[in-house]
Amino acid sequence: MTQGNNYRVLVVEDNPVASRMLENALLSDGYEIMTAGDGIAALNILKNNFCPIVITDWLMPRMNGIDLCRAIRNGDYPGYVNIMIMTAMDGQDDVITGLKAGADDYISKPFNRTELAARLANVTRILDLEKSLKKASREIEILARTDPLTTIYNRRFLFEQLPREIQRCRRYQHPLSIMMCDIDDFKAVNDSHGHHIGDLVLREFASRLSAWTRCDIDWLARYGGEEFLVVLPEIRVAEAAGVGERLRREMAARPMNANGFNLEVTASFGITGFDLVPDPEPDPELFISRADALMYEAKKNGKNRVMVASC
Ligand code: GH3
Ligand code: MG
Ligand code: MG
Ligand code: MG
Repeated sequence: MTQGNNYRVLVVEDNPVASRMLENALLSDGYEIMTAGDGIAALNILKNNFCPIVITDWLMPRMNGIDLCRAIRNGDYPGYVNIMIMTAMDGQDDVITGLKAGADDYISKPFNRTELAARLANVTRILDLEKSLKKASREIEILARTDPLTTIYNRRFLFEQLPREIQRCRRYQHPLSIMMCDIDDFKAVNDSHGHHIGDLVLREFASRLSAWTRCDIDWLARYGGEEFLVVLPEIRVAEAAGVGERLRREMAARPMNANGFNLEVTASFGITGFDLVPDPEPDPELFISRADALMYEAKKNGKNRVMVASC
């Protein structure tokens, strides 16, 4: 019966015959196998090949199983390493020594095939659980930084990531620009066509901003209701002004199709930045508020326009 779910097991055993017997049992249960003849060889393998399960002999040359347990517990691995000691040294004191060194389980030599399979089934159950917890935690991380309507980054992530971006550009003496974009008269879209159409416009607006900027380096976040902040690393304010003007023009030139409605959507843009990010680093909130103030100037000046100023 196959039950190993392809989990990789590192067999650590100095006796080739014993090692072979264990390998055969594990292979037929569906595990992937790596082997080492002593603790030091095992640690070398683990450095480059993570194995979530280690079955180790106790008495071995160079480094024994107990020292191997301690070394694994002091090491840093991408996941938890389940260690099973397999040895003839199975007196009560030995068992305690093994567990204290960091082993999770213990099995007597010569091993009983059914007992080994049952103990490993427990381990794989925990590994499956670990896998699903990691997956859930990755999903939660993504949700925590995503705006649910537009699926771009949310404001929370913006305030986490922008300081890092400022820091990075300052360290490498690179320019950094930002652009605040606010849809013009968006309230009227909601009022005339309903909230659902308003939502579609927000989605389309975000998706255009994302598609029309550099995919590998620029990023954007929903700052507020119909306000978006685009972060443009590595480009000077004068160039960012060109990007803003292109976005404004394209946005105005291409009406959005939302549920059959053809909607002309324009936006106002406030652009600012540093041709060289200064030391000490600028305060992210002040930086954003500068772009916001410019965007409001664009509104005052008649909307559907771009206002630009260096910081
Ligand atoms: P201005 O040109 O000065 O920016 O005017 P505006 O109408 O775009 O701005 P205002 O601040 O008056 O209105 C913004 C509207 O955005 C009001 C609010 O109901 C709407 N809004 C905010 N978040 C959402 C959302 O998630 N979905 C929809 N459909 N509307 C939203
Ligand atoms: Mg041995
Ligand atoms: Mg608006
Ligand atoms: Mg607004």
